Amino acid sequence: MASDTVLITGISGFIAKHVALILLERGYTVRGTVRSSAKGEEVRVTLARHGAAVDRLEIIEADLLSDAGWAEAAAGCRFVVHMASPFPMAQPRDRFALVPAAREGTLRVIGAARDAGVERVVMTSSIVAVYQGHGSRADARYGDADWSNTNDPSVGAYAVSKTVAERAAWEATRGTGLELAVINPAFVLGPLLDADAGTSAMLIAMMMRGRTPVVPDVSFGIVDVRDVAQAHMAAMETPAAAGHRFILSAGTRSLIEIGRHLAAADPTLRRRVPRFVLPDYVVRMASKVSAQARLLVLELGRAKDLDADPARTNLAIVFRTPEEAIAATAASLREYGLVR
Ligand code: NDP
Repeated sequence: MASDTVLITGISGFIAKHVALILLERGYTVRGTVRSSAKGEEVRVTLARHGAAVDRLEIIEADLLSDAGWAEAAAGCRFVVHMASPFPMAQPRDRFALVPAAREGTLRVIGAARDAGVERVVMTSSIVAVYQGHGSRADARYGDADWSNTNDPSVGAYAVSKTVAERAAWEATRGTGLELAVINPAFVLGPLLDADAGTSAMLIAMMMRGRTPVVPDVSFGIVDVRDVAQAHMAAMETPAAAGHRFILSAGTRSLIEIGRHLAAADPTLRRRVPRFVLPDYVVRMASKVSAQARLLVLELGRAKDLDADPARTNLAIVFRTPEEAIAATAASLREYGLVR
């Protein structure tokens, strides 16, 4: 197969390193973009430590906020996995603050891919581009035809950025001959490849450090990063995946359930993990003064039913359980000394 070259944007990210690892294992040449050469060196060291053939890894500098480097990055590539996007721990107050990097950056990547004659772009969107801003919609099942409503002022900056970036990607590729497939993962957990934990593992770290004794009654879809990586490769290689969105979720768990699972797997955490659920009215009151609480109000008590069947059927993904993903995150956080 695979003397083909694949560009991965944002190769320094938590998920991107897993994608790079399996693509190198498969025999592809991988070109990854970073914002600083120091990060590029770290990625090379990490992937080599996990047995990857890094002689087939190229690193190139490009920032989503600038045109520089993207034409060079896409040149000679058969596929692009567009994964770079701002994913901050704290949500900016300005709901549109992340749009320039997310949307304009996506348009830069797609423009460069089109000009370079790339065959297919696989874009990492998110489940937050699917289900947010629908108020108290009676039907809690969300599928690939659903889109978040960014006109709803309660939808935060991250979800706005992911939704408008994904919409821009579909518009920019329509009728161009450049194929697009989109992956919409739920909350991604699972093993870290190095001590650069990324945003999603930090929630588990906070629980393990005893920082969240009380949690709101919110639930998330969870998916293991190894399955997310596999889905990106399958979306790249499966001809019929072009033109489709694929939700990835292995099941929904509440914050208190995640804590209970951590404690069951490691009894030393029993006194540190969340033990109490905050009454909804407290979160609603806090939402009058706190932007973070306003985001939580959207999620209170309403477990979403996320339809991942197209990923099972068309990408042949057999999901690891949420518990496996949670346990692997916890083990990695210990292994890399991020939680003692
Ligand atoms: P990380 O924060 O680990 O990775 C984000 C990547 O994007 C980093 O490589 C970062 O580079 C890069 N990036 C951010 N801003 C820019 C910019 N202006 N120019 C170039 N690169 C930039 O996040 P994840 O690995 O968790 O997420 C990867 C993708 O998956 C994102 O698109 C995210 O929205 C999406 N996703 C993640 C989920 C999760 O739970 N983790 C769930 C659903 C979707 P640098 O290292 O320089 O900061």
